[in-house]
Amino acid sequence: MKDIFSIITIIAIIVASISFIGVFILSALILVWKRRASAEFEMRKRLEQSVLDHRTLTSSLQEKIKWSEALLSMLPDYISELLSSHTKDEVISRSITLSNFLLDSKRTVFFWWDEKRERYIPYSLSSIYKIEIKQGETIIGASGLLKIPLTMEDYRFAVSQRKDIKFERIPDIDLEIALPVMTRIKTYGVIATTPQTKDITEVKRLLQIVAEITGVALENIELFNRIENIAVTDTLTGLWNRSFLFTQFSRDLESARKRLRPISVIMFDLDHFKSFNDTYGHLVGDKILKKLSNVLKVSTKNKGWVARYGGEEFLVVLSETTKDEAFHTAEKIRKDIENMRFDIDKTTTLNLTISGGIASFPFDGDETESLIKSADDALYKAKEGGRNRIIPA
Ligand code: GH3
Ligand code: MG
Ligand code: MG
Repeated sequence: MKDIFSIITIIAIIVASISFIGVFILSALILVWKRRASAEFEMRKRLEQSVLDHRTLTSSLQEKIKWSEALLSMLPDYISELLSSHTKDEVISRSITLSNFLLDSKRTVFFWWDEKRERYIPYSLSSIYKIEIKQGETIIGASGLLKIPLTMEDYRFAVSQRKDIKFERIPDIDLEIALPVMTRIKTYGVIATTPQTKDITEVKRLLQIVAEITGVALENIELFNRIENIAVTDTLTGLWNRSFLFTQFSRDLESARKRLRPISVIMFDLDHFKSFNDTYGHLVGDKILKKLSNVLKVSTKNKGWVARYGGEEFLVVLSETTKDEAFHTAEKIRKDIENMRFDIDKTTTLNLTISGGIASFPFDGDETESLIKSADDALYKAKEGGRNRIIPA
């Protein structure tokens, strides 16, 4: 009985040991499997994330490529539009559009350099930008003074280096980068913006393109205006020349016709100028013509305009003016000249006189030629009548 009990005990011990070893092996196996499963899970997760990252990168690269392609295809149009602008306003508004487009910026401001007042003035129709900036003040004045592009960081550095540059924020406008708009000859102003993109080297490069094209476009307009001005100006007197006279007079006449308003012309001619030239020479004669032109210009300012019609003949055009009113203006000019002393040389001064004929729309003609002819006929009568007088047609 005792033996049986011992055998059962031994068997129980053996079974318990086997069970324990089994449980131990099983637990170990489960642990290994769990670890492997979690490593696999981790790996799969990482793999999926890297695929996702790759996809995002690819799509952002594709976006960038698409944007660059769009930019490249539209850039020539923007540039040629900017370069073919006819006015300063057009250039500036197109350069602002180009900067906003290239830099994906919400606000670009062009600060025009007013040479006389030595101030940068925001070129905008909006009244919110009523500020004026001196040379060296704010990022605008600093960029203009140093004639280089400046980021806020560059600006802070410049402030620490130079006494003539002060650190100041522009009130109410947040501008992060400024570039001077200039050519070899002249500085036109400073263009400033706050770009969306953070790549500052790229921003500087793109804004540099905008600034350079804007400078060229502004220079073109100045040259064009100068040439146009030369084409319509009389070189000796600085008055409008004969060709401009006909163009402008027909415009003014058309406007008077449309609005049923009066318009008058006065044809002036110097009296006995040929003998004056014969006595004192053409150079002195030229000097007299210049002085007389100035008198006519000043006397007709705010009333109309004056052109040199021929040698010593001048045509004054007075819009919104009746024949009576034109007569009073002409009489005043005649008297002023009669009372004026003209210097011939250091010791000699002379008196001169002029005669004038007046014609008015619609009574004396309804075309430029017929009106000028009526005024000329009246002038002839003034000469016939003894000169130094004004005769209305
Ligand atoms: P009238 O009182 O009848 O007008 O006599 P006039 O001598 O002034 O005659 P007219 O108007 O026909 O003469 C024009 C003269 O003006 C001829 C010329 O000597 C002079 N003249 C014309 N153009 C110029 C110019 O550009 N410079 C100078 N110095 N003289 C000019
Ligand atoms: Mg004359
Ligand atoms: Mg004459």
